[in-house]
Amino acid sequence: MKRQRGYTIFHVIAVCIILYFGGIAQRIFMPDGFVANIAVFLIGCGIPILFYKIAWGVVEFVTKFPICRKHRCRTWHYRRELLSSQEGTCYRCRCGDVYIRTSKNEFKILNADGSIEPYMTRWDARARWHPAK
Ligand SMILES: [Zn+2]
Repeated sequence: MKRQRGYTIFHVIAVCIILYFGGIAQRIFMPDGFVANIAVFLIGCGIPILFYKIAWGVVEFVTKFPICRKHRCRTWHYRRELLSSQEGTCYRCRCGDVYIRTSKNEFKILNADGSIEPYMTRWDARARWHPAK
């Protein structure tokens, strides 16, 4: 399910920040001529957008995996496991537990006996993980 997209005060603020950066870029570079002015303005506008994308990229990386069930391992402690599962991709955390990450933003525990247990879920690829019921 996707969250509804509407124009909020945050969009207005974001546009103001973007235009503000465009203005700053013009003041720093003081371009000569109409085309140069437009170009510098656009580059300036691109800076906050770029930062925003990088920030989201970091968020996406850090939250790629939830904390493991022993509360020790984070995203960078998980290693891809060469097991195949119909449910999704297998990963092993540093404790040795195997998990399955599905395309539906679910994180499941793959027990040693082969049984699969729901562990965490989230509504979006960048959202927080919540314990699965
Ligand atoms: Zn672990």
